[in-house]
Amino acid sequence: MVVMTQSSIFTRIIEREIPADVVYEDDRVIAFNDIAPQAPVHVVVVPKTADYANVVELAAADPGLLAHVVGVAKRVADERANGEFRLVFNTGESAGQTVFHAHAHVLAGGLAEGTLGSK
Ligand code: AMP
Repeated sequence: MVVMTQSSIFTRIIEREIPADVVYEDDRVIAFNDIAPQAPVHVVVVPKTADYANVVELAAADPGLLAHVVGVAKRVADERANGEFRLVFNTGESAGQTVFHAHAHVLAGGLAEGTLGSK
């Protein structure tokens, strides 16, 4: 399902209009447990700005913020797993993106090889 609203569900979480299980927050990003986890650890790291619909836009406009997202992903993996993790940025509907507010999926806690995508 594609979610395209004036205010994305992630902005509503950032603004505390809807609840989330927040595991990290600072002035630039928020990180919370995914509501439909696909790994033992599945945390979404979201820049607070809604200016970027996906990681390509984020990287072009604010590479420092993208680097911060990666650093927060590492912190989450250190705190909640063994520091190893998979970082996924779904980019576009046909790649599985449903929320068009740039975000990273941090997947950790025991992932098998050969599970990167489905056919
Ligand atoms: P994507 O499909 O890459 O756009 O990722 C969106 C992710 O947001 C999905 O993995 C959803 O399970 C997750 N999600 C949607 N709504 C919520 C919510 N209210 N709290 C936590 N995660 C959510």
